[in-house]
Amino acid sequence: MTVYNFAAGPATLPDPVIKQIQEELPSINGSGMSIMEISHRSALFDDIINAAEQDVRELMHVPDNYHVLFFQGGGTGQFAAVPMNLATNHHKIALLDSGHWATKAGDEATNLGYQVDVLASTKDQHYQALPHANTPISAQDYDYLHITTNNTIEGTAYHELPEHGDVTLVGDLSSNFMAENYNVSDFGLIFGGVQKNLGPAGVTLVIVRDDLVKPVEHIPSILNYNLFVKKNSMYNTPPVFNIYATGLVLKWLKEQGGIEGIEQVNRQKAALLYDFLDDSKLFANHIKPSDRSLTNVPFTTGDAAVDKEAITAATDAGLMNLKGHRSVGGLRASLYNAMPLAGVQALVDFLHNFEKQH
Ligand code: PMP
Repeated sequence: MTVYNFAAGPATLPDPVIKQIQEELPSINGSGMSIMEISHRSALFDDIINAAEQDVRELMHVPDNYHVLFFQGGGTGQFAAVPMNLATNHHKIALLDSGHWATKAGDEATNLGYQVDVLASTKDQHYQALPHANTPISAQDYDYLHITTNNTIEGTAYHELPEHGDVTLVGDLSSNFMAENYNVSDFGLIFGGVQKNLGPAGVTLVIVRDDLVKPVEHIPSILNYNLFVKKNSMYNTPPVFNIYATGLVLKWLKEQGGIEGIEQVNRQKAALLYDFLDDSKLFANHIKPSDRSLTNVPFTTGDAAVDKEAITAATDAGLMNLKGHRSVGGLRASLYNAMPLAGVQALVDFLHNFEKQH
């Protein structure tokens, strides 16, 4: 039975990448040593991390005045790192409250003593549409505006970036990093863990404009952008295996026509599922159509018992991890880069048959 994994992250990886890892695991580049055993200070690893950085630059068309950095600690680590490194002038951050992960980012900054102003929130609409600020904001007031480009749990995405005046834009791209195209130069900084679209858990990508990186005192070295720039992301031992595996996914992504190529496939995948849901008399997606995510699609029958039955039957059919986040309920299909169109077709066929039986 073919298994398709619709998990929200860690998530499905490209088959050829898994195969290549399997083949190369005992001996990387003919060295007789496993990638899991080699020093991060070796020439072997230098080549791997430099190639990964170059591929990120190529895929995202990263301008020369931006740094590409590899951290650990996930998106959650960056909820702390971003304010500590960037909110050094006003100690004030603007935030658009688009859901669970935006709230978490705001809470972490508040915890660390920064003022967080929520410009708009769609909480009272159960986050089924995206918030936009009503009044203009200014860099005189805020160090940056934090947005979550794709809301993994709620299933919304900013396909057009919100108004931010002259305020530096910070994007949490955790769940649509390189799944749809954004202009890096529209942001001061973007970050995200790679474990959804780009690799196994353990690597956090940060792309930051040069003028925002400055010496900052009294912050943990492990989250210090200035140190990581100086040390080429090797201030301490980086996750060697994970950076290698991410590098393989980046190469695979280039073979798919880069972000432009994969975005077309992602649009096809999403349209297939949304079209089914919009026609269905049993299942529905309740997100405002223009705000719908390409990568995370929540849906429900409106009856928790039937939802549960559908999830169980899907699992038996090899369609895995379709349970929605506990805060939303229902089902959720995550359609990240490595999910093939055939997987979404199998899901739609299954849902169609399930509906016929109900
Ligand atoms: N932001 C978003 C949008 C996410 O989806 C997640 C994880 N699901 C996070 C941040 C937190 O990331 P991590 O688990 O890498 O800390």
